[in-house]
Amino acid sequence: MSADCLFCKIIKGDIPGTIVYRDEQVTAFRDINPAAPTHVLIVPNKHIESVNMLIVDDEPLIGHLFIAAKKIAAQEGIAEDGYRLVVNTNANAGQTVFHIHLHLIGGAPLKLQMG
Ligand code: 5GP
Ligand code: ZN
Repeated sequence: MSADCLFCKIIKGDIPGTIVYRDEQVTAFRDINPAAPTHVLIVPNKHIESVNMLIVDDEPLIGHLFIAAKKIAAQEGIAEDGYRLVVNTNANAGQTVFHIHLHLIGGAPLKLQMG
């Protein structure tokens, strides 16, 4: 936990968030400014600033993040139609919250094709 981190505060319940999934390792809540009909942020309960700060011991946690994403996509009813998973890192990618998060975006055809 980091005292001045927005997502740590949402995980702790100090700031309200619409939680859609939670377990001992990750928490997922709706993005406040959704880019598509479904836009969920999946975050580790452990404070990690970005992909750059990952350590080898975090490997199972990051795998767990993707398994949670798969479950939430099914829960949201978007698994079959499809969705995008995005992780922004630092300035060029537009990272604004420095607690690592997986964007789960779907619910409609996504206009911007990346990759
Ligand atoms: P980034 O640009 O760092 O990859 O994504 C940060 C995301 O956090 C943005 O999509 C933004 O809309 C979302 N966000 C920022 N502040 C809040 C907040 O207070 N609550 C929630 N639920 N999402 C937020
Ligand atoms: Zn944090």
